[in-house]
Amino acid sequence: MKKLLAVLACAVFLAGCSPAPKRYNAVYTDVFDTVTEFTAYCSSQEEFDGMSERVHGELLRLHEIFDIYNEYPGIVNACSLNGAGGAETEVPDDLIELINMGIDWHKKTGGQLNIALGSVLSLWHECRENGTLPDENELLKRAGHCDIEKIAVTENSVTLTDPGMSLDFGAIAKGYAVGRAAEILKENGLEDFAISCGGNVVTSGKKPYGKWEIGIENPDGGLITTVSVSDEAVVTSGDYQRFVMIDGKRYHHIIDPKTLYPAEKWRSVTVICPDSALADALSTSLFCLDLEDGMKLLEDCKAEAMWVSQDGEVTKTPGFEDHEK
Ligand code: ADP
Ligand code: MG
Repeated sequence: MKKLLAVLACAVFLAGCSPAPKRYNAVYTDVFDTVTEFTAYCSSQEEFDGMSERVHGELLRLHEIFDIYNEYPGIVNACSLNGAGGAETEVPDDLIELINMGIDWHKKTGGQLNIALGSVLSLWHECRENGTLPDENELLKRAGHCDIEKIAVTENSVTLTDPGMSLDFGAIAKGYAVGRAAEILKENGLEDFAISCGGNVVTSGKKPYGKWEIGIENPDGGLITTVSVSDEAVVTSGDYQRFVMIDGKRYHHIIDPKTLYPAEKWRSVTVICPDSALADALSTSLFCLDLEDGMKLLEDCKAEAMWVSQDGEVTKTPGFEDHEK
């Protein structure tokens, strides 16, 4: 008995001596055309730097695969696929997975989330850059090349059977990528961290003094609320970050496939859910759906949401409010 007590006392003493984890932070500006912040509690700068290298490496890898604007040496990516002129193209597993997810969400949202909307989205992208509105005929012409049925997927290849079609993963890529990076950190033994990639936040564990506190922007500036989360993702889609003003009207980057113009139902939608990829897909989908259809979509997902309407009215699911306390 004496011996056991001695061993226990020693164990307690050793545990008491290990340094308390400290908060470390890193910022990357070269992935997904946005600012990414990685925060973690680690026992040393060295441990944090190793973890940071892993997160950054994974985000860079997925950024290159999902990039629709540039090709990179040694990989076939989304840009190569869009430029393949209808030829069957062998692509990495992550791209197959993202495309299958996109096809699934097209079904779930009655076509409101459509990764095959690339030709229409690129026209809007050019117009936002030039401060002009798209030509109506050109919009309609491009809308004829957005049929998701024209994507043929096998285990390792994709064929866009309409060569005029192009895919765009802006609605779902960041959530997927941040979720993957978080998995890698957990596999490597890191417990308490948060990654924020341009409005897509994923959290794990909890800070020593409580949960992670995530501020949610008010579309008109400042914060609208703060939520406490642990092991959950928080994702916002809004009209206030990528837009152009023409004749006093705001034209932003989330396009309603039915009207071919920016979706006007909401100013922002925020989703909280354990799965980061799901949270990203949901936030853009809810932004394009009315409240009733959005609520129906939420029934099948383990997720909470907050909608901000055009006149600033806020609607929340009861579970969302629980995170604010
Ligand atoms: P953000 O990129 O601002 O974080 P979202 O996740 O909501 O926001 O995605 C918006 C992006 O999704 C757009 O920049 C565009 O690339 C793409 N997109 C816009 N409208 C649609 C749509 N109806 N279906 C699928 N993708 C869309
Ligand atoms: Mg999204």
